[in-house]
Amino acid sequence: MQRTHAEDDRGAAGDGRVTADVAVVGLGPVGAVVTSLLARRGLSVWACDRELDIFPLPRAAHIDHMGLRVLQEIGCAGDLLSELRANEGSVFVDADRRPLYTIGANAETVSGYPGSSYFHQPYFDRLLRRSAEGYDTARLELGVEVEAIERAGDGYRVRARRRDGSALDLVARFVLGCDGVNSTVRAAIGADRVLSGFEEDWFIFDLVLGEGVVTDDIAVQVCDRRRPMTLLPMPGRRYRLECQAMPGETAEAMLRDEAWRDALIAHALPGVRYERVERTASYTFQGGVASRWRDGGVFVLGDAAHVMPPFLGQGMCSGIRDAANLAWKLDLVRRGEAGDFVLDTYEAERRPHVSSIIDAAVRLGRFICASTDDEVEGRRRVVAAGEEALGARLGFRLPALEPGPLVSSGGGKLLPQDIPAGGVPSDEWLGSGFVAFVRDDGTIGGAGAWWERTGVGRMVRAADVPGAYPKLRAWLDALPAPVAVVRPDRYVLGIADRLEVLTDQLVAGLESR
Ligand SMILES: Cc1cc2nc3c(=O)[nH]c(=O)nc-3n(C[C@H](O)[C@H](O)[C@H](O)COP(=O)(O)OP(=O)(O)OC[C@H]3O[C@@H](n4cnc5c(N)ncnc54)[C@H](O)[C@@H]3O)c2cc1C
Repeated sequence: MQRTHAEDDRGAAGDGRVTADVAVVGLGPVGAVVTSLLARRGLSVWACDRELDIFPLPRAAHIDHMGLRVLQEIGCAGDLLSELRANEGSVFVDADRRPLYTIGANAETVSGYPGSSYFHQPYFDRLLRRSAEGYDTARLELGVEVEAIERAGDGYRVRARRRDGSALDLVARFVLGCDGVNSTVRAAIGADRVLSGFEEDWFIFDLVLGEGVVTDDIAVQVCDRRRPMTLLPMPGRRYRLECQAMPGETAEAMLRDEAWRDALIAHALPGVRYERVERTASYTFQGGVASRWRDGGVFVLGDAAHVMPPFLGQGMCSGIRDAANLAWKLDLVRRGEAGDFVLDTYEAERRPHVSSIIDAAVRLGRFICASTDDEVEGRRRVVAAGEEALGARLGFRLPALEPGPLVSSGGGKLLPQDIPAGGVPSDEWLGSGFVAFVRDDGTIGGAGAWWERTGVGRMVRAADVPGAYPKLRAWLDALPAPVAVVRPDRYVLGIADRLEVLTDQLVAGLESR
């Protein structure tokens, strides 16, 4: 693919007809979510997947409150909530199943959703696909594999092939590679994968438990050098068993060997009656990021941009955050409300965020998968050092956004959301643009005219926040200064004494070269 800088793109002579604002390559969870996020903002989206149906093997199982908040934006949270199983936390146990360390789940979160829940991915993926299909401005094509991406005037020509061998090509202004770990789009932008060095083979089994069998609502990480395992309670009667492959064990041989499998399940879940093994798979767990996430109007998101071992259940959640970060920026650029520069903040904001989660997931992975004498001794020492050392090694919090063009003083954290029973969630009440919260009119100054003139968002006076949103009101009351600007993805841009300060910062962030 021909490389250009974003600045060059604007001046490129048009030799192709742009037929979609955005082409989304890959309709896994990340591609489906970004398609909906863009289409609901009115962008025309062409999205494809090389497969005819959703991914059939056991994979993602856990979603956090931020993921649910994004799904709320595309109208999927309500349906999903009734299909979730709350996770009460996770416990790390030793080979004799004695507890080493427990991480409690966050029932109450800033987003108004449970901090940690489990879902059944086939249901989840179909829900997301249905959402994406529901927009007039989105066109989904299945059984279409993208083979190449080339510059074409102001956009990109996406060359693809249908199952019957026929060629298909279209021109889009932006191309989003949501095409997973072996991304064609990532290769097209000349990006490499920079891996963490953690690499372990694991087997996955989704079980259907016997009628009436009750399990704890807590994930179990078994730190046993003879067979590291993760046990996850799933919705309904399902239960997930993940276990590390031991030397000499290959997926081809083991997943077919029923006697081995039954013995393994009996060892993992002694005394637990199960009806059948519903699905099996094997994966190599790795951590890493793409060396670059953007080339001109072509971006990578989700597993195409980063992978991590699944011990925190954060891979897909991070991909959904990529989608939520990029969608509103593409919309602002398309509408001429922001310069192309704003698209650079996608990688600048997302890379450090996801990298710190990958580091945490790899840290956990090394603890759980310790197998050599040195590694096991290292783990023993951390356990012996007590709660604080274990917390430093295994504890995890979703990070804030780092300062940048669209994150200034006091910014980077999420705005609280209220979800009143039977009422409109506060995010929906606030709308899908920027929000400037002001405690008193004296702090607005000349900036008020800008907010009224442009289409980037709205001003909200603290006194106008309905009583149905107590968390939001309490947050406003507790602000260290009377003005706060919040971004469309609900991250706080900054907090200041005067609206002008934050408006200038926002204008600079949207327009800077
Ligand atoms: C065992 C396991 C457990 C996990 N558990 C969790 C969890 O609990 N929570 C969590 O958040 N994450 C979890 N993850 C990670 C999560 O599964 C991934 O991060 C997530 O599936 C990535 O989504 P994606 O949409 O980026 O990519 P994918 O789901 O891989 O989707 C990519 C899509 O692109 C399509 N495609 C590929 N190439 C092309 C092409 N050239 N043209 C057209 N289409 C193409 C593919 O067919 C596919 O549908 C887990 C992973 C594993 C392995």
